[in-house]
Order: sequence, then structure tokens, then C-alpha cells
Amino acid sequence: MTSPYLAAPEDLGALLDGEPSYRADQLHDWLYRTPVLRAEEMANLPAHVRDAIGENLWPFTVEVDQSADDGTTRKWLFRAPDGAGIEAVLMGYPKRTTLCISSQVGCAMACTFCATGQFGFERHLEAGEIVAQVMYANAFLRASPMPGSPPRVTNVVYMGMGEPLANYKRVRESLRRLIDVAGMSARSITVSTVGVVSGIRRLAEEPWPVYLAVSLHAADDETRSRLVPLNDRYSLDQVIEAAQGYFEAKGRRVSIEWALIDGVNDSEDQARKLAAIAKRMRAHINVIALNPTPLSDDRPPSAYRIRRFLEILNAEGANATLRETRGQEIDAACGQLRVRESLASDP
Ligand code: SAH
Repeated sequence: MTSPYLAAPEDLGALLDGEPSYRADQLHDWLYRTPVLRAEEMANLPAHVRDAIGENLWPFTVEVDQSADDGTTRKWLFRAPDGAGIEAVLMGYPKRTTLCISSQVGCAMACTFCATGQFGFERHLEAGEIVAQVMYANAFLRASPMPGSPPRVTNVVYMGMGEPLANYKRVRESLRRLIDVAGMSARSITVSTVGVVSGIRRLAEEPWPVYLAVSLHAADDETRSRLVPLNDRYSLDQVIEAAQGYFEAKGRRVSIEWALIDGVNDSEDQARKLAAIAKRMRAHINVIALNPTPLSDDRPPSAYRIRRFLEILNAEGANATLRETRGQEIDAACGQLRVRESLASDP
């Protein structure tokens, strides 16, 4: 049997051919309600069913399992049978446990400062591969909770590898499974996009009020096109307008993501323009100091300049906070995923 996470949750009966129909319901609960790390832990299923699932419960094996920040950050590198590497990062906070998941293997967007973009696109992830990252983390947390954080994934952010809105159909199905099947609240899920306008519009039509994060990084088209090639297809104004439309459709405040790069997008002028955009969108700004990546000379600004940038945003009346960076020493920080693996296999 292939991993039951690769089947639609409604089709589990077909996997359990010849079993009474309530077995599919039981398996459904083990997959989406109380996930466990191994099929043998599925106590109410008969041994022959557990054996049939066997080693194939997950659609991947766990190749790397690293922890950092005193056990409050954990990175997994999962390996799919076709060799695809899938990274997810779990972060524990006092009141929430956030999982950052991947939606693609690699990324075609080629943002200059992002390690995933620097190494190109491999393939889309299936809906089941996206959802299994969350269920694996839940199974893991039940067995080994993080110190001082909820023992389950309370928040999911699509901020790992890939551009979720460039894999729309499968990402949509993963949202449906997380919300309608696994029972997560849409309000605990954030979809982050570099500005795929068509995808933002489609997402606004979906029934779920998930949070939308838009990775802006520059407040004028000239600067933005240098950092984010997609800006030549969808201009800053189009992205802003689509995000405003999302806000109006959902009543969910959009957030703007801004990786602060020394000498590139950290000027007073950029801060003022960004503040104006954020106010227009009624958006919250998440500033993060750039995490350096191997194929770029870009660096984060000094602590002084970072503080100054935030001071200007706040003085201009925008709503902005500095995101703490997690997992830097295990290459789990924003934009760093897939670095070590790729360099190791391509010396
Ligand atoms: N493609 C989506 C989601 C994946 S990237 C998007 O672009 O939003 C998740 C976030 O990490 C984005 O805001 C992205 O801009 C940011 N990021 C990428 N590389 C980074 C780096 N080197 N340092 C800090 N943040 C980075």
C-alpha cells in the first residue's frame, strides 16, 4: 500500500478493500484527528491492516531531524520515494506551536535573496504531501512536546519551500483537508505569496478565511523587480490591489513581509513608501532581518539600521514588528531551506 496520506480522505475505503466500512473511519481518525508516528500504534485496527500500511504510513522518510534554540525550534528534512526533499520547521512559543510547511520542492520564483529560489524548481508537492507535514508534526508533538508550548500544531504557515499560489490546486486541497477534515481553524493558517495576483484573487473566492501574507520587500517597482523577478509580471500596484481585494472579501488583515537587506531596501525612503502602502492596505508589516544565503552577497543591515527602519515605519503610523529569527544555526531560518542539501549533492 502507498501512504494513506496520498489518498483523498474520502477514499480511504478503497485502500481497505474487503474491510468493513467503519475501518475506513477509524483509519481516517488516525490520520487526521489523532495522528501517530507508526501504523502499529493504531490500536483499534486489526494487525493485518496495520501491517498492510507498515512502513508506508508517511509519504516520506525522515532524513534529518534537528533541533535548535533550546528545543523550541525543530527542522525536518523529509525524503519522498522519488528523492524529493521536503523541509518543514516547527517553532514553539508560550501560547502557540507554529509549523512552517513547504508547498513545492524548490521554487521557480528565483527571488535573489532566497536560498530556495537560488536552487530552482523541482516539482509541486501533492496535497497529501503538504498535509502529511502537519500531521507528522502533530504525531511527533504528542510523543515529544516542545518545552512550554502546546503539544499540537496550533498554527500553520505556508512559508517553507515554494510558492503556494503557483501550486494552487494542490494547496487549495491541502487547505480543505487541514480545515474541513482535520478540523483546524482557517484563522490559524497563513498562506504567504510573493505576489501571484491570479492566485490571490482565487483564494479570495474560497470559503476559508485564512490569513494572507504578501512578500513585498520593496516599495517601488524598480527596486522590487531587482529582487523579485515576478514583479515584471505582476507590478507592485497589482499586488497591492489584489491584497486589498482579499482584505475586503475576507475581513482578514493582510500582512506584508519584508526581508531587510543592507543597502538594498533599508533606506528611509523605502520605509516611508512602505508605511504609506501598509496604511493604504491596512496591513501589518513583518520585518525580518535577511538571513544570508550562499549564492548571494546580500547581508542584513546593522542592528542600528534595523531599529531605525522600524522607528520610521511606526512614526509614519504604520503597524510594524520585527520578526525574531529562529533556527539560524541549523539552516532552518526563513529563506535558508534546502541550502545544505543542495550544496552537499553539488559540491
Ligand atoms: N513563496 C512564498 C512563501 C515562501 S518564502 C513567499 O514568497 O511569500 C517565506 C518568506 O520568507 C517570504 O516572506 C520570503 O520573502 C522570506 N524569505 C525568503 N528568503 C529569505 C531570507 N534569505 N531571509 C529572510 N527572509 C527570507
